[in-house]
Amino acid sequence: MRLLRAFSARKASPLPPPVTEQFLLEDQQVTMTFKRHAAARRFTLRLSRDGSGFVMTMPRRASMDAARDFARISESWMRKALVKRIAKVEIADGAVIVLRGVEHTIAATGKSRGLVVHDAESRLIHVPGQPAHLKRRLTDWLKAEAAHDLDVASTKYAKAMEAKFRKLNVRDQKSRWGSCSSDGVLSYSWRLVLAPAFVLDYVAAHEVAHLREMNHSTRFWRLVLKHCPDSRNAKTWLKLYGSKLHALG
Ligand SMILES: [Zn+2]
Repeated sequence: MRLLRAFSARKASPLPPPVTEQFLLEDQQVTMTFKRHAAARRFTLRLSRDGSGFVMTMPRRASMDAARDFARISESWMRKALVKRIAKVEIADGAVIVLRGVEHTIAATGKSRGLVVHDAESRLIHVPGQPAHLKRRLTDWLKAEAAHDLDVASTKYAKAMEAKFRKLNVRDQKSRWGSCSSDGVLSYSWRLVLAPAFVLDYVAAHEVAHLREMNHSTRFWRLVLKHCPDSRNAKTWLKLYGSKLHALG
């Protein structure tokens, strides 16, 4: 018994539970959650997962006053983060999503069988199956549509630029819209199918051009611009609205 107590006394005491406070940001009340972290050496702030407030990570022994001071000096950053936050679009019956830059309404058919049907004219996407599976069925369909569009665009540019790719992957990559490996594998984010067509087209031109020029040299950009004159607009679009493509899920 004595031995056990001696042992547990040497162990670090458990971290106190997170503290939540209301924080007044100009005239807006936001929720601030203070979380102590054993490995934290300084204060860090991030938007909460649902975008409604902030989470501050703080060192184990830092005082709450110091944490509140850090929040105060981070006000302008927080205001910007709130403006930039993206409302999450939940995939559900009746929800509006953007496909190739055009708003579409998701319509659950209620039928157990059948394929996802895209009605471009009435801007509806009919999704069969149980409600619990709607999200996965629609996401699978969007990924397949993306793979199709990206294959068409990549093949077009490969022909025009006299380049060859070996394989094409479509994934949910967070940090990049596309990439090109030295052994000729093109990888893209499926979310590009949500963007206007000229944006997907540009990303394909960009990655295919890397098959010829594995860099961002003047020669590379000349090649991209020669075959895809809309590149500049597409780059601007991605800079301004690209993060919105991650709002669906
Ligand atoms: Zn590049």
